[in-house]
Amino acid sequence: MSEPLLLAESLSVRFRRTTLASLIGRGRPDNVQAVADVHLAVGRGQSVGLVGESGCGKTTLGRALLRLIEPSAGRLMFDGRDLITLSESDLFAFRRRAQMVFQDPYGSLNPRLTVEETLSEVFSVHRLCPVSKIRERVRELMQRVGLSPDLSTRRPYSLSGGQCQRVGIARALAVGPELIIADEPVSALDVSIQAQILNLFETLQHDMRLSLLFISHDLGVVRHLCRMVAVMYLGRIVEFGPTEAVFESPRHPYTQALIAAMPRLDVEGSLPRRGLAGEPPSPVAVPPGCPFHPRCPEAMPVCRNDPVPEERVEGRVKVRCHLYPLPMHA
Ligand code: SF4
Repeated sequence: MSEPLLLAESLSVRFRRTTLASLIGRGRPDNVQAVADVHLAVGRGQSVGLVGESGCGKTTLGRALLRLIEPSAGRLMFDGRDLITLSESDLFAFRRRAQMVFQDPYGSLNPRLTVEETLSEVFSVHRLCPVSKIRERVRELMQRVGLSPDLSTRRPYSLSGGQCQRVGIARALAVGPELIIADEPVSALDVSIQAQILNLFETLQHDMRLSLLFISHDLGVVRHLCRMVAVMYLGRIVEFGPTEAVFESPRHPYTQALIAAMPRLDVEGSLPRRGLAGEPPSPVAVPPGCPFHPRCPEAMPVCRNDPVPEERVEGRVKVRCHLYPLPMHA
């Protein structure tokens, strides 16, 4: 099997969060473990969905994978190169190969720049083509993402959310990346526009053989768009595998609960129809043992005390749960 384009091993992100008490000298800042011991691979030309409830660390992980925030531990490889130790100039070159599309289509664009100026800037900064060719390249790019050339003189405030997100996608595509990490790119859009943007991602991913990490809390979207899926809970990947295998037979109790809570399901009777009880705990006070144990219908005494076992391969799926212990001889 060929080496994945992006590979994270034991990746963690910790940061200190200022609290009111710490500001007035009555306490210390919170230590937040936003991402913990994550193993994740994105193959060349592969689409991987990253799902989990709001606040589980998906966005932090996505940004850490592109070194938009610094990981605090672990290994991060891109095309066989260590990303953690890249120099500033190598990091700049890496940004041509891996890009991010952000959740907020308005907030991610400079309100003072027109569409043409936003896209031209990328060509100039990265010196992607002669200045005389930039306008032509911008028009091609706009066409590729379904934006009329008539919009080139518009600023974000006079565009719809869907149009702004197409500009954000065009800006990411301008450098000709091999990998795109899209962080909830449709969640801020009207439902009627969401399908159009998802179709655009599907077309681009297929036509350009892009590697795509698609972050979403919407399992239905990920099931439709992604070949692989990673399920995240409180900063940890608890299940990872081919999308159909995970949806047809989820192993981890958290994945089972997420899928059981989906509005429509065509696996009637094959899953316990239990909802997900309670709210996820704060990443500042992660429960000991398995972090999911306070909400888990399958929790056993071992789950409250012992760390979650290493990844176990169950069929085509990797899962971390005491229900699937490693064999004694492993
Ligand atoms: Fe539930 Fe235990 Fe598995 Fe955690 S390790 S998901 S508490 S069964």
